[in-house]
Formats: sequence, structure tokens, C-alpha cells
Amino acid sequence: MNETGTVIVGIDVGGTNIEVGAVDDTNQVLARAKAPTPETGPDDVLGVILDLVHSLDSSPTAVGLGIPGVVHDGKALTVPNLVGWTDEVDLISPLSDALGVPVTLGNDANVGLLGEWTAGAARGGRNVLGLWMGTGVGGGLILDGRPYTGSRGAAGEIGHVVVMAGGALCSCGRRGCAEAYAGRRSMRGVATSMAEAGWETSLFDIRDAEEKTKLTSKVWSKALEKDDPLATKLFDTAVEMLGVALGSTVNLLDLDRVVVGGGLAEKLGQDLADRLHTAAKDWMLRPSPELTFTVSELGDDAGVIGAAALARATSITA
Ligand SMILES: [Zn+2]
Repeated sequence: MNETGTVIVGIDVGGTNIEVGAVDDTNQVLARAKAPTPETGPDDVLGVILDLVHSLDSSPTAVGLGIPGVVHDGKALTVPNLVGWTDEVDLISPLSDALGVPVTLGNDANVGLLGEWTAGAARGGRNVLGLWMGTGVGGGLILDGRPYTGSRGAAGEIGHVVVMAGGALCSCGRRGCAEAYAGRRSMRGVATSMAEAGWETSLFDIRDAEEKTKLTSKVWSKALEKDDPLATKLFDTAVEMLGVALGSTVNLLDLDRVVVGGGLAEKLGQDLADRLHTAAKDWMLRPSPELTFTVSELGDDAGVIGAAALARATSITA
């Protein structure tokens, strides 16, 4: 391995996959491994994480971990997007005991933005929102040149900004959140109901041809490419509703950059960022010529590089 200085292992636990990478001082990913996220609770997730880290065959000085939940004071308070995680879980002790190095924990969306801010599309940004379009819709913030996680680690939840009072039911149990229109889990639910009600769509044929069980980003992007009427309608609504949330967020925070990531962003590229920018402008009080919307540069690596950057920053300040 041609590594520079110390190596830190970054771990990105998503609703679908767990990705790990050995990251060097220059934010290069030297080795990677990936496995499906177990749906059988925290113990099995920990087991998969350890197997993946061992498979990298690196000797990290620290480990950073991003998880899809609220993280405060080093603890995972809630992890709504992982099956079987109902109670507060201590991930740090078992991992640091097993690996013999310090472990730092963060929220996946914040960690993803930290990756883009350290080595990708958010570099140099002073007031940045990271918008992650996946199973749900996640968000992270850089404010005044520093990562911002709020009073109890729960800031940045752009997916749960209400865009329609009394609107569609969201996975959080409330109504009218942006995620209820733009999260893949919600979009799949609506697509299924609309197809049953007689809407023509190739979404489910594409899913079967791809041998997937869910409507993945790839399935959506293929359907959109073919101008599938149902996919186009649902995607237009997703962009419109995210536009409301983004425009309002820009009004509140006077951002200079929005970075769009997640599976759909990887498939659709800068075109998706441009469409969101156009949709958001309709709701902006003072559209700024300096505000840019950019698609993620690091793709799948954002979480891994960000988790490593989080661990590195913690080890420097500790
Ligand atoms: Zn919600």
C-alpha cells in the first residue's frame, strides 16, 4: 500500500449497505469493502462492521463512523432507518474494544457533507447545505465555516421540513415533510398505489429486469430516461417539494452552496442539482448570484472520507 502518514478507517452505515474504507492523510481511499446492512439489530451490524474493517488489512490509528440517526455526546440516540434499533445504542465501546483504537461517531448526512467539505464539492464553502437523496432525504450543514449539528445533534433535517401542511404521511409519522414526496421509500409506496390504480409505468418491469426487490436509484433513473409517465410525474413532484424546502432553508440561512448527493444524484448528475436550484429559486426571498447548487464529487466515498475526517479532527482536538 502506498500510504501517506496515518491511516484512518471511515465507516458509512446506510439503510442498504455498510461501506468501509482505509483513508490516508490526503483523503485518498486506499482500500474499500462493502456489505448489505443486516436487518437484525445492532449486534449483527457491529459484526458486519468488524468483518469489513478486518478485511481491509490496514492498521488504522482511529476509526470514524457515520450512522443514519441522531448522534449526541458520542451515542446513537435514535436510528429510525435501521431495522431493530429501538433503544439508545453504545457503538463506540464495543468497536474501540475490538479494534483497539479510538472511535468517533457522527450522523451519516453530516459525515457525508464533511467528506464533501474536506475533499469534494463543498470544499471552500462557508455556509453549505448537503442534501442526500436516498431511501430517505438527509441533510447536513456547514455554517460560518464549521460543521453545525445543533443543540442535540439533530440539525440539518431538510427531509423533515414541512412543505405541505397536512400533506402526505412521512416515515417520521408526521405529514407533509419533503421526504414524504422525495424519499425513495415514500416514492415507491406512491408508485405502487398509482400503478394499482391503473397508471401505466415501466418502473416495476425495470426493477424485475435489474433483479432488484426495491425501486433503486438505478431503476428510477432508467425509467426517467425512458420518459416513463408515472416516474416522471413522481420525480417532478419530488423536485418541486424539495424546491420548497430548499428555498425556505436558503431564506433562513443565507447559504452560499448546496451540495446534492445520494444514489439519485450519482445517476442523474449535475442536471438534478440544476433542477433543484431552479425549483428552489421560486421560493427565495433574495436569490443570490453567488449561491451554487453542485452535485456530489465523491459519490459513495463521501461517507467513508467524511467519517475518517471526523475521526481525524477528533484526534487532533482531543
Ligand atoms: Zn418526516
